[in-house]
Amino acid sequence: MGKSYKLGIIKGDGIGPEIVDEAINVLDAVATKFGFEISYEEFLLGGAAIDETGVPLPQETINGVKKVDAVLFGAIGGPKWDNLERHLRPESGLLALRKEMGTFANLRPAIVYDELINASTLKPDVVRGVDIMVVRELTGGIYFGQPREYAQDRAYNTMVYTREEIARIAKVAFDIAMKRDKRVCSVDKANVLEVSQLWREVVEEVAKDYPEVELSHMYVDNAAMQLIREPKQFDVIVTGNIFGDILSDAASMLSGSIGLLPSASTGSKVGLYEPIHGSAPDIAGQGIANPIATIASAAMLLRYELDETEAADAIDNAIKKVLADGYRTGDIAAFDAKEVVSCTEMGNIIANYISKS
Ligand code: NAD
Repeated sequence: MGKSYKLGIIKGDGIGPEIVDEAINVLDAVATKFGFEISYEEFLLGGAAIDETGVPLPQETINGVKKVDAVLFGAIGGPKWDNLERHLRPESGLLALRKEMGTFANLRPAIVYDELINASTLKPDVVRGVDIMVVRELTGGIYFGQPREYAQDRAYNTMVYTREEIARIAKVAFDIAMKRDKRVCSVDKANVLEVSQLWREVVEEVAKDYPEVELSHMYVDNAAMQLIREPKQFDVIVTGNIFGDILSDAASMLSGSIGLLPSASTGSKVGLYEPIHGSAPDIAGQGIANPIATIASAAMLLRYELDETEAADAIDNAIKKVLADGYRTGDIAAFDAKEVVSCTEMGNIIANYISKS
């Protein structure tokens, strides 16, 4: 018998339950195929938690997610809860959960699928084959640095990183590069900022433990330009909080179809894997949501949290095949659809490809 894993499942609100159900469908298919077991435990978060318990992040969820191997999450939020006080709103629950889980690394892949190349606003030749992983430091840098102050005529923030914070995010990036094309580009502003000088020094030190990985450095202004000019040059990009915030959004738009992109907040014992889109209340309950971003998040979970590389590859290949065969949910129907399918059908087709491959 193979290994057995326990996953925390947070379906959330809006299309969350529909898309997460299809990711579970696909996870079950790879577990059967590759001979491991997955059990699931559901937790409440966001609007669903408010309706049931009165708060967006119940204590049972905080306790529960610390006892599983990884968490797969759909999305939260919706107009029903928009008028609540800020600390009681669904989004506060998600921010608090990430903090509780201590996830300091945000992984944001930008993948351009050949079949959806026309969804990009850039020329096909520029984006064909793009497969970038942006590793963003999530809990340090200028968003959290002290001192900070807003005053009438003067306001300031502090960009601060410690050696330890830089080393641990660099290590995440190098570990990921080892599972990819073994290239890391560290992005900073070392020509102007002392904090970036330290960043560069520490990344160089960490690189010594990964002789197989090629390390390069790039200033953030140039990186922004290069992402648009020649995005294929990048494999893994590692950078601080504010630079990563901006670059990961720019990178995700290379694909033009954000409904397909997964993400992860990780680095601590348990990682949180989720699509980059929201709960899409406008289409919730209609069975037309695209589950691919959530299914791709499940593949990331297998690859980066559970080390089940073959299973992760099988999911990624099945997603490529489903797109190559012309199956599209409504949101991407404009791009060479041969057949428009529902959320459940898309999940079933991907699961069947895996079982039969
Ligand atoms: P959204 O991503 O939910 O939706 C934007 C548009 O994209 C909508 O037209 C929606 O129908 C479409 N869309 C999104 N995902 C889709 C999918 N999988 N398949 C097909 N179409 C899809 O963003 P929004 O409308 O700005 O936010 C809606 C709610 O989601 C808000 O309450 C917001 O706070 C919340 N939200 C949650 C998260 C999260 O849970 N991580 C992230 C962003 C927004």
